[in-house]
Amino acid sequence: MTVPLSRPARGALTLAPTHPSRSFRDRVDGLLARVGDTPLVRLRRILPDDIGPEVEVWAKLEWFNPGGSVKDRAALSMVLDAEERGLLEPGDTILDASSGNTGIAYAMVARARGYHLTLCLPANANAERKAVLAAYGVDVVETDPLAGSDGAIEVARRLAAEHPDRYVYLDQYNNDANWRAHFDTTGPEIWRDTGGRVTHWVAGLGTSGSFTGTTRYLRARNPDIQAISVQPDSPFHGLEGLKFMETSIVPGIYDPDLADQHLFAPTEEALELVRRLAAEEGLLAGLSSGAAVWGAIEVARRLDRGVVVTLFPDSGERYLSHGHVFGAGRRAHGR
Ligand code: PMP
Repeated sequence: MTVPLSRPARGALTLAPTHPSRSFRDRVDGLLARVGDTPLVRLRRILPDDIGPEVEVWAKLEWFNPGGSVKDRAALSMVLDAEERGLLEPGDTILDASSGNTGIAYAMVARARGYHLTLCLPANANAERKAVLAAYGVDVVETDPLAGSDGAIEVARRLAAEHPDRYVYLDQYNNDANWRAHFDTTGPEIWRDTGGRVTHWVAGLGTSGSFTGTTRYLRARNPDIQAISVQPDSPFHGLEGLKFMETSIVPGIYDPDLADQHLFAPTEEALELVRRLAAEEGLLAGLSSGAAVWGAIEVARRLDRGVVVTLFPDSGERYLSHGHVFGAGRRAHGR
């Protein structure tokens, strides 16, 4: 069966901040109850000198989630939502498309709750992701590497249409429970951990779930908070996990009017920042974290004062096979 999904209302926010009992952490136990509540750390050494002393930049470290990425939140939220709507029962097979992290998160949640998983994944997804999916025993359908994550989406749609009784298609790109995960947890955590002082929120766009849900929550708490989205600056980029919206299948949950500003990160500058995060801050972050911190710095250097928060979706350990990023021959950085 496929999950009927509604698109969220665009524009105006009518949602009240979520009652704590709705958060998924209260509906699960054991391993899955450890999803979320990730550390928020202040960045200092990596910030350029033109950023004033009254501007703070903080990053939320999502690789502290048990499945190793921000997508644990969305996967758990979408699975619980499908269960609550009576669409998913133990023994069923979850289907979705993913460039990797959502697939790993689904694998963890599916195994912990008794489901099978079929995942459509571009054949050129990196070795680390494929190895983790194999370890979980996931049924991987490899899709055209040249068609990227959009190719995987098309195959997932076709499988869902051809075999409606075989799969429960969760469709992370059009599933409100994806962004709701961040409305329910990521947003409240940032609000709590900055003591309500956050002034600017910067995040990369993939499905847009993290940006959308967190922005909606923070705006509900303080309508003056500025939300800045970050995309790669071209369709052919090296920022795995992020989407260049103009030439992609645009996710149904994406609302382009939500951001106060759209930034476009150059791959090489973002990757250089990934290396510097490791060398100067001790943070071994993933590639899209480089785009996130690039955006946070762009925002921070225009401020006299403020509290800029961004999100690092996964760890550099998921990219060690990318020799051009962390290769042994690279010059060590440091001050
Ligand atoms: N970075 C990485 C490494 C990711 O895997 C993803 C998810 N595709 C994102 C960023 C973007 O997250 P979201 O889907 O919530 O926009």
